[in-house]
Amino acid sequence: MDNLIIIGAGLSGLGAANHLKEYEIYESNSYPGGHAYSHKQKDLYWDEGAHICHSKNNDYLNLILKNIEFHHEKNTLNNNLYYGAKVGYPIQNNLKDLGFEDKVKALVSLHKIKNFNPSSIKNYRDWLKASYGDFITENFYEVFTKKYWNCKTSELSLDWLKGRLIQPNIEKIIRGSFEKQNQEDTVFSEFYYPKNNGYFGFYKNHFSSKKINFNHKVHKINCKNKVITFKNGVNINYDKIISSIPLKDMGGIVAEMPKSIKAKLHGLRATQGLYVNLTLGHKIFKEHWLYIYDENIKISRLFSQSNMSNNKTIFQVQLELYYDEKTKININKEIETAINDFVRLFKLKRNEINYVGHLYKKYSYVVADLNRVSNSSPAINWLEENHIYQVGLYGRWKYIWSDEAYLSGYKMAQKISNSIY
Ligand SMILES: Cc1cc2nc3c(=O)[nH]c(=O)nc-3n(C[C@H](O)[C@H](O)[C@H](O)COP(=O)(O)OP(=O)(O)OC[C@H]3O[C@@H](n4cnc5c(N)ncnc54)[C@H](O)[C@@H]3O)c2cc1C
Repeated sequence: MDNLIIIGAGLSGLGAANHLKEYEIYESNSYPGGHAYSHKQKDLYWDEGAHICHSKNNDYLNLILKNIEFHHEKNTLNNNLYYGAKVGYPIQNNLKDLGFEDKVKALVSLHKIKNFNPSSIKNYRDWLKASYGDFITENFYEVFTKKYWNCKTSELSLDWLKGRLIQPNIEKIIRGSFEKQNQEDTVFSEFYYPKNNGYFGFYKNHFSSKKINFNHKVHKINCKNKVITFKNGVNINYDKIISSIPLKDMGGIVAEMPKSIKAKLHGLRATQGLYVNLTLGHKIFKEHWLYIYDENIKISRLFSQSNMSNNKTIFQVQLELYYDEKTKININKEIETAINDFVRLFKLKRNEINYVGHLYKKYSYVVADLNRVSNSSPAINWLEENHIYQVGLYGRWKYIWSDEAYLSGYKMAQKISNSIY
């Protein structure tokens, strides 16, 4: 029987383990869950950026909801903040919330849209302009893309839109200029969230039944001799590896990878994520999360775990900030600026805020730029030829939701174990 090694105890690693009979898991952190982990700070749980479960996959839902208490929110509350005004989500269906002049400009530019011709759509900017018109594209999506993805809309491809953006509906946009629209067709109109342990509450029991070798960070993989060397000095042999190691890191880990393929990995882009965790003694907004469109405020999104749980005593809010991978950030300075902006935004006093802590991720969102596929595919294919099977969000360097990450590992294990069992 092949000696099968799983690297990474995130959701893709969990999916792989749930399919296999015999395997070993190695994980660099001292805890499981990867990006789906919830960190305890001052007796409260904090996720690595807003995480909710909006999966429509019944098998996956049955698995994660079994034996836990959870909220099933059927009426997601989210909004956009735009220079002091609340504009409904999504912006294009809630033009009623804009000032008169902005609303007229948005409708005029909508009217100017030529026929939607799929062959002329080369990037996200083309898609936005063809779907929502110039005004909404320039004043909202371009600004938010700069804050969230740290790039221009013209640099992004279209392969990440599914499940994130809503298909254009001209009638809805016009109706939304006059009256409130119901949100039932929005991507996140309902969701699940655990009652305990933060988002990780969905997975805690599943990981606790797995034997995981923590504090084992892969340092080098020798594909010729089939040896993995960990940072802690341990060496192990393998026949096959299911790896959720970020693809971008694999160039430095696998010496035998051809130089031309390694060079392409340098072109892969991700944002760095900084999450600032605060509490207040009173609720300051009722939404589950808010997007901030103001150009002069670095915070992209506010996420309130206590609004998931109706915690009446403490208002818990996380500020999300994203930076491109090259920016050197002074974390303390960024936290201070973010808190000051937050105080200004909600007209609070500084002493009403308790700073709980922060979380930082070198890789948060994978940037779906136009070269993502051509930069990632050669390495994924070469590794596979060498019995290293990349899975998951960073493993394959493609944005996927939690259920897809789980399935990515599960299906890969199924594929490679067919030849084993
Ligand atoms: C900001 C943000 C918000 C999100 N919100 C949602 C949401 O609302 N709903 C949803 O469904 N999904 C959401 N997601 C997606 C979801 O978090 C991911 O799809 C999922 O957690 C990815 O799991 P994974 O196993 O692929 O990767 P990871 O979680 O990154 O797991 C990989 C594991 O490998 C380990 N590892 C890495 N390198 C090494 C090494 N060299 N040696 C040993 N171990 C290593 C890591 O420590 C980690 O534990 C969000 C993602 C982001 C970035």
